[in-house]
Amino acid sequence: MRRYGKGRLILTIMRYYGTRLSMAWQAMPLGRKLFAAFFGALLIFFVPFGFLTRYIIENALLHQKRLGLYQAAQAARSMLEYDLNNQLTNTKAFAWWTECQQAVLKRDEEWLRDNVIDWCREFNGYESVVIFSSDGKRLFHDGVYTSGMSENPLLARARRGEAGSGLLREGNAIYQVSYTPIMDNAGKPPQAGVLMFAQAIDEQGVAQLWSQISNQVVLLTAAPGEFSSTLPQLREGENQEVALQMPLTDAHGHVVGVLEARPSIETARAVRAAADRAHRYFLVLSVLMSLFVVWVVASLIRRNLKMFVHASHQLASHLWSVRVPYAARDEFGELARAFNRMANDLQVSFDQLNHQHQEIEHQKTELEALYNELQNAHASLETSNEDLQEANRRLEEAAFTDGLTGLLNHRAFQDQLRKEAMQAQRSGQPLSLILLDIDYFKNFNDTFGHPAGDELLKLTADALRDTARAYDLVARYGGEEFAILLPNTDMQEALRVADRIRENIAAIENDYMPVTASLGVATARETIIPANLVYRADQALYAAKRAGRNQVQEAA
Ligand code: GH3
Ligand code: MG
Ligand code: MG
Repeated sequence: MRRYGKGRLILTIMRYYGTRLSMAWQAMPLGRKLFAAFFGALLIFFVPFGFLTRYIIENALLHQKRLGLYQAAQAARSMLEYDLNNQLTNTKAFAWWTECQQAVLKRDEEWLRDNVIDWCREFNGYESVVIFSSDGKRLFHDGVYTSGMSENPLLARARRGEAGSGLLREGNAIYQVSYTPIMDNAGKPPQAGVLMFAQAIDEQGVAQLWSQISNQVVLLTAAPGEFSSTLPQLREGENQEVALQMPLTDAHGHVVGVLEARPSIETARAVRAAADRAHRYFLVLSVLMSLFVVWVVASLIRRNLKMFVHASHQLASHLWSVRVPYAARDEFGELARAFNRMANDLQVSFDQLNHQHQEIEHQKTELEALYNELQNAHASLETSNEDLQEANRRLEEAAFTDGLTGLLNHRAFQDQLRKEAMQAQRSGQPLSLILLDIDYFKNFNDTFGHPAGDELLKLTADALRDTARAYDLVARYGGEEFAILLPNTDMQEALRVADRIRENIAAIENDYMPVTASLGVATARETIIPANLVYRADQALYAAKRAGRNQVQEAA
């Protein structure tokens, strides 16, 4: 359980950092993204590739070095062989000498020492000169002598008449030895014995000779059994140091020593430095190349993007004719074509919209004109309506008003009488009527003229209006007759009103002569018949005329 929880915690942490990394990546500008991607690629590919290159170079150099070493060791061995051949030639020069042959046969030690042994030791510098008898016994010798010299298989071959040379190991020293059968001058038997020269290989000489060349060759003496192979072998040391060992074998076929070719320290250093330099150049060049490629790609992308951004801004400020001039058939080209198509559609839509807008504006202007016309028509209709109403009002007025006096006319009086009769009947209140007729009006007319009569009629109407109470109805009944309807008024009160009227008429001041009027008063209650009321008032008026005029009479 605990381990499971730990794993989950690590997963959560990894997910958290993964999300943060992806957010940072998304917020990064394009140029930086490219740089990051290229440096990632550099780390993943170029750095290991650099090390691989270094490894390959080093291997190639190592191979070259091995070849050089092999050649050096081979050359050193050839030199040794050349030395041995020289030595053998020298041995032959002394051994194939008839006088020497005779001296050996005679065992003339003195002659041999003077002419062969000492001579070769002193002048040729051999370290060992030995003369064996034909049965292999050592007769005379000088310098170094070891048992190995007589146990050498070469000695046996020399006793059989063959000359030969080879290597011999004694302690830490390696000798080049040559054996030649002692013959006459022509190299023919009888064989008197065997002559041997031995010379230690000069290690210092070998080393000095090869130090002149780039590689160093040293001679190593090998302990018995140290080297099993007789073939050249590479010995790997530290720091990729390598040495080639060329075995040297004696006549038994045993390895007696080794010629070791080593590269000089300078060479090794130079090789390593060359590899290092190549590695460094490779890294620097790959970084520079990557930077250059990134720069080229980034500036290419940025330049193209700028073109799109610029075009988009222009489109945003309603410059519909803008197009991206990118003809290549790559992704940018595709984007450019899509953009241009969009811009074209927008332009067409905008033109249509503009057209529609103009049409709407036009329609709006027309509608406004129409509306104004309607408004005017409405205004004139209103005016005519008012005129009509006024005319109506006047007509109505004319229909119910007397033109001369402005009082209610006969018809209006009849209407009001009916209404008031019904009202009085409903309320149970009395309704009174006064009928008035101007006395001797015909005379007045005849005397002062019709216009004067009209004037008098107006003055009479004014007097009636002034005398009547607010709710009394005054009408011109016809000619010079007037009617005054008195709602809620009994006979007593009506008589008072009538008498006041009579007095006021008599008091009218006109330019011609004073006039009087006769009045009849009738009152009804409960059952009111308009015609009957008028009739009774008229009878009362008639009675007032007969009784002498300028008086009020009460209806019966
Ligand atoms: P009385 O009533 O006292 O018996 O005598 P009268 O002269 O007044 O007689 P009557 O009522 O018959 O006369 C009416 C006259 O009124 C006849 C007519 O010339 C006159 N008259 C009627 N209407 C008008 C009018 O509108 N203007 C004028 N100037 N005279 C009118
Ligand atoms: Mg009359
Ligand atoms: Mg009259």
